[in-house]
Order: sequence, then structure tokens, then C-alpha cells
Amino acid sequence: MPKIQIIERYYIRNLARQRLNSGYYTPEHTYHITGIKQLTKIHNNPARYNIAQFEKSVPKPEQAPDDIGREVAFAGRSNAGKSSALNRLTCQKSLARISKTPGRTQHLVFFRLDDERRLVDLPGYGFAKVPDKVKREWALSLEKYLQERQSLQGLILLMDVRHPLTDFDQKMLEWCLHSNMPVHILLTKADKLKRGAAQNTLLKVKRELAELANVSVQLFSSLKGTGLEEAQSVLDQWLDFPVK
Ligand code: GDP
Repeated sequence: MPKIQIIERYYIRNLARQRLNSGYYTPEHTYHITGIKQLTKIHNNPARYNIAQFEKSVPKPEQAPDDIGREVAFAGRSNAGKSSALNRLTCQKSLARISKTPGRTQHLVFFRLDDERRLVDLPGYGFAKVPDKVKREWALSLEKYLQERQSLQGLILLMDVRHPLTDFDQKMLEWCLHSNMPVHILLTKADKLKRGAAQNTLLKVKRELAELANVSVQLFSSLKGTGLEEAQSVLDQWLDFPVK
């Protein structure tokens, strides 16, 4: 259940409405005027993710921030919905746009949550329009990052619910299994399928991966917010945020 937080009390209803309409509050939250006195906010996202800030964008894992604390990486072939998911999870409109600026599409992009925690946007290098040699170098580099990065706690792997388990996804899974890295799969754009069809895909993917240890799967929709809390609770666990 979303957390409902009363953010201000107004004794004049119109004043509450004026505030609301003036864009004074962030649009990512849902606000309600309840009764005649209260402006309440549906607190969709825990503050710990809202504060994500761009830290660094690097072409090579060796240039990553110091390997201390904890981080969670996000991967997905291009168009899987990775940027939308990152924005939704952090409740920011354009955080992940940074990763899409020209010249950075093949970078690892680090977002800082606090002194000890980071989210990392990995490039969907495998299918980028770059020469094979560059792709191979990238594959090696990414594999090295997944295998050697001490602070990396797990990988969020995003797949369009309509096209799960592509070659790219299989490769990422293989690397993670090799390095005993937990993987949590988001089957994105779940709103594009009817409820039954989305559930069927979820079951199918779960069945296909049943043999693999440390792999979990869920439905997700950045558009509708489906699965947001489930995904955040995986992040909470990996990033060692205190359980509420
Ligand atoms: P990326 O390339 O993996 O970062 O993918 P984007 O986040 O840019 O999304 C690719 C396209 O899918 C965009 O047109 C998004 O608007 C769309 N998209 C992303 N997430 C969702 C979702 O949950 N539902 C729907 N219907 N479309 C989505």
C-alpha cells in the first residue's frame, strides 16, 4: 500500500487548491485534498530512491567510483524500458536521460543514493550500432565488471514482457551465474498485455529459469507503477536499507 503522508494542513480549502495547482509540489506524487483542511500526499516512493543523483559516467569499469559500499546495476537491451524504470523507481522525470545523451550510451552511469549506495545504469552494448570489435571489447569489459566489482550486490535485468529472454538477456544471465551474482528480472511494459497474458508470461519465464539459483522474476510497468514496491523491496534488500 502506498504511504499516505499529510504534508500540510490548510484551514482554507482554496489555498490548498491554489498550492496544488501552482506546481509547488513535485508532480510525481499524487496529491489529494481531503476533508476541507488537509492536503495529503500519496507517498509513492521512499525518499531513499528519490534522492538519486548523477555521480559519474565512465566508458570503462576501471574508472568507476571507488569500489566501496553497495551498488545495484541495471541492464537491458535497448528499448527494454530501462530508463523509464530507473526514472520511475527514483521518482525522477529525467534521471536516466543522462545515460542516453550522445557519447554516453556505451558508458556505465553511476547514480549516488548516499555515501555508501549507488545505482548503476549499464549499457545495452550488445545491440548498439557499433563495430563488432567494439562490442567484443565491451563484452569483456562488462563481464569483468560483473565478476570483479566487490560492491555490486545484484543485477536488475529488464526485458520487455512481450519479448523476454533474448540473446542479450541469456548472455547477462550466464555472466551473472558465473560470478554468483543475484539477478532480479523485471518484465517491463506489463501494461501492454492483458492481465492473464502477462501472468502467463511471468509463469513461463519463471519455469524456464526454475533451475537457476539466485534469479527472481516479476512483472513491472513504469507507466502504471505495477510492481514498483516489489522491485524496491529487492533494492532495499540488496542495498541493505533498514526494513521498515
Ligand atoms: P531503454 O532504451 O531501455 O532505456 O527504454 P526506454 O525507457 O527509453 O523505453 C523505450 C520505450 O518504451 C519508450 O517509448 C517508452 O515510453 C516505452 N515504455 C517504457 N516503459 C513502459 C511501460 O511501462 N509501459 C509502456 N506502455 N511503455 C513503456
